[in-house]
Amino acid sequence: MISKIIDEDIIQKIHRLLQKCNNIVLLTHEHPDGDALGSALAMYDYLRLEGKRVSVIVPDEIPSFLQWMPAADAIVVYEQDPETARSLLGQAELIMFLDLNSLNRVGTMASFISQLTVHKVLIDHHNHREKPLAHLEIRLPEMASTSEMVFRYICRVGAFEKLSKECAVCIYTGMMTDTGAFTYNSQSEEMYLIINQLLLKGINKDEIYKKVYGTSTESRMRLMGYVLYEKMEVLPEFQTAIITLSREELDRFEHQAGDTDGFVNLPLSMSNVRFSVFLREEDEIRISLRSEGELSTSTIAAELFNGGGHTNASGATYQGSLEEAKQKIKEALPKYLRPQVNEENKSEVKADDPIAKPKEKKTGNSKEIDT
Ligand code: 5GP
Ligand code: MN
Repeated sequence: MISKIIDEDIIQKIHRLLQKCNNIVLLTHEHPDGDALGSALAMYDYLRLEGKRVSVIVPDEIPSFLQWMPAADAIVVYEQDPETARSLLGQAELIMFLDLNSLNRVGTMASFISQLTVHKVLIDHHNHREKPLAHLEIRLPEMASTSEMVFRYICRVGAFEKLSKECAVCIYTGMMTDTGAFTYNSQSEEMYLIINQLLLKGINKDEIYKKVYGTSTESRMRLMGYVLYEKMEVLPEFQTAIITLSREELDRFEHQAGDTDGFVNLPLSMSNVRFSVFLREEDEIRISLRSEGELSTSTIAAELFNGGGHTNASGATYQGSLEEAKQKIKEALPKYLRPQVNEENKSEVKADDPIAKPKEKKTGNSKEIDT
């Protein structure tokens, strides 16, 4: 039994609107990850089976470890082909935002999209701070992935039987990558009921794992070694680790899109680290934040850098130098993490720690149903 977490009214409104529209563009966030691509490509597969004219647009490059995904070669990358992307957007009757909580996250496409007066729908699981982006929105921050939300949507409109193996592969990929292969944010029982349904559709989960996590280049592995040995600063008094990588260092290790994905999680393998920061120099500084427990990285990302994300995983950008960004974080640590006095009380931050942020409020209602 999988609960009806998404409100019936919003499902029906989106379903009716999609039935009316033929020309649909699916859009997800820059630096697309497994869940961004998984949710968009799953929806792409489903809508095509429904006979729609549908395209997927992403702001920038698809990392190599996700290029194998079903229909990934049909995606239009705005940065590489802005004319096609604009033309598709211009013809669209409906734009659907997936895994996206703010137009800031679509890069240079933002102003073009905000001027379009077409139907807009959003399906997303980020913490939302801004006003609605779309006319119809399904926002569920308690969901571990947008891909899971797409699965739930497809089932709720009665299309489970039609859900293809390719669609199942995309959904599984998103569910897997947004939970670090089911190692965090992965306690929900229903997640495994859904995986069971995806297995019945014929997915090979071990193969998907290998394609995503087992295809690194040698230079990526060397870069990881360099990062851990030379570039990780550990601040035990704040249970924090900070990694920085400059443009020059990235070039030295022949950095490709996606090569540094996952690096921010590495310091959390240490027992005395519960907050990890990764700063990378691109055109601007890209910031990734991860935490364990109730420490809210989305609050930190928003307050320091106008970024956002989820409780335990967030991101932001910063216009300035790597050193300035690092300094800004270090200066803010006492506000978010109580200093640890000595070895003995290192792991003694209690759940009711007044400095730890409260748990994000859960929303949505649930009733028992079958898929
Ligand atoms: P990552 O560290 O993997 O880039 O991002 C972690 C999470 O934070 C993802 O869910 C991502 O969508 C979100 N995120 C990353 N960068 C930004 C940003 O610049 N602004 C906002 N609002 N969210 C971000
Ligand atoms: Mn996601």
